[in-house]
Amino acid sequence: MAVQSKLVYIAACDIPDCGTVHGEDPDWAYHFDSPEAATAWVEDGGGWTVDGGRLICPAADRAHDQARIPGLRL
Ligand SMILES: [Zn+2]
Repeated sequence: MAVQSKLVYIAACDIPDCGTVHGEDPDWAYHFDSPEAATAWVEDGGGWTVDGGRLICPAADRAHDQARIPGLRL
């Protein structure tokens, strides 16, 4: 039996101090073959937002809401 290593990607929220990732749960080990695949998966039905170069998880707090809606005052 051969053993090989493989590079995989997970989606990670870009909001400072958030730490949310998608695809790292060992009970649901879903990884992606490219950064684009990870981004597309969480954006399409995962509730994440892609804003420019940032990936924003669906958390509902001030930092996330302001990142999703620039200029929003809370
Ligand atoms: Zn987040």
